[in-house]
Amino acid sequence: MKSVLLCFVFSVATLHAELAIDTNFPGGSAKVEMLDQTTRTVSITPAPHKDLGWDCWWNFKLTGIESGKPVTLVVTGMSFAIADRATISLDGRTWRHSAPGKVEKGKVTYSLTFEQDHAWIAWGPPFQITDAEALIAKAVQHGGKAFEFCKSNGGRSVPAVRFDPTTPGKHRGLWVHARQHAWESGSSWVCSGFVNWLCSDDAKTLRETTRIIIVPIMDVDNVEIGAGGKDQVPHDHNRDWMDKPLYAAVRTAQAMITEMNAANEFDLFIDLHNPAPRDLKPFFFVSPASIMNATQNASLKRWVETAQGFLGKHPLGLETKTRESGSSYHPLWKQISKNWVTDHCQDHVVAVTLETAWNTPNSTQSGYQTYGAELGKAITAYLSVKR
Ligand SMILES: [Zn+2]
Repeated sequence: MKSVLLCFVFSVATLHAELAIDTNFPGGSAKVEMLDQTTRTVSITPAPHKDLGWDCWWNFKLTGIESGKPVTLVVTGMSFAIADRATISLDGRTWRHSAPGKVEKGKVTYSLTFEQDHAWIAWGPPFQITDAEALIAKAVQHGGKAFEFCKSNGGRSVPAVRFDPTTPGKHRGLWVHARQHAWESGSSWVCSGFVNWLCSDDAKTLRETTRIIIVPIMDVDNVEIGAGGKDQVPHDHNRDWMDKPLYAAVRTAQAMITEMNAANEFDLFIDLHNPAPRDLKPFFFVSPASIMNATQNASLKRWVETAQGFLGKHPLGLETKTRESGSSYHPLWKQISKNWVTDHCQDHVVAVTLETAWNTPNSTQSGYQTYGAELGKAITAYLSVKR
């Protein structure tokens, strides 16, 4: 009898901690399909957000992990972007890749082991409003001016930073923004890498001679609720560049770009995105050559060649061939941001979409950031040549 009782006490003491999922924070997204405490298996799908874009963003905190014992994570119902590797964090701030999962049609299975009882797990490294604010606070220490870009349609303050040149006379002008598509978190980390580089001594001349506007997150509403954003109803931010835009962020961007262009202080517009799952090398989407004149095409060619000299040498690389966002790409192609800029700005202005690959071993928080630094060097080299 005594030994039976001891055995009972022992088995109670070794019961697993209960696995649990928390998504109650900005950018959190997961609908639990199955949670099996015996096999330590968690099956989730992105939280549905009706009419707010593709279901391809997931991000949650897992608690009740047993140190050193694997948890199986199954992600199903991905409408688009199955990640070969999950992105994981022990502190919710520093992110790295898991080992590759097993990808099957419509689902992926990861085996994850942690040496602590909780972890954050996501499709890609999350980048929220608080990250944008921290990044901007750093820029302010290096001469940037923080400002409220606009209030979003959802009433959130959209953070932005500007650098106003200190040298006399006319200046060059640069626009960089990310996250017109909310799920593409890697694009904000490329932006972050660019801003960090802009704060370095190497960027002193660029800071002092160039009017620079940076918006790390354009679609803050979908980013904060953890919705995909892309192709939301009736259209997303990057199909909103028309005469009367739906979104306050697009309206604001158009007004500021128009002003810089009219002041003859505008040269380069860079719209940061992440592409399709099997686009394994970054590339530029550009305006169709057919809608551009010789000056526009020549400026674009010089930018792409300059960028190749820097981004092309990064482990992520850069495709030498660009792709056109024309009528065969999307029916609303004229309402894509760079096409609006190409159409509304002076001939020397270059407008591109930079699609940074997200499904490669280098598509990490640090990989994106070093890519953003190379982008900064390319911009400096490009703008150092007179118009
Ligand atoms: Zn996109």
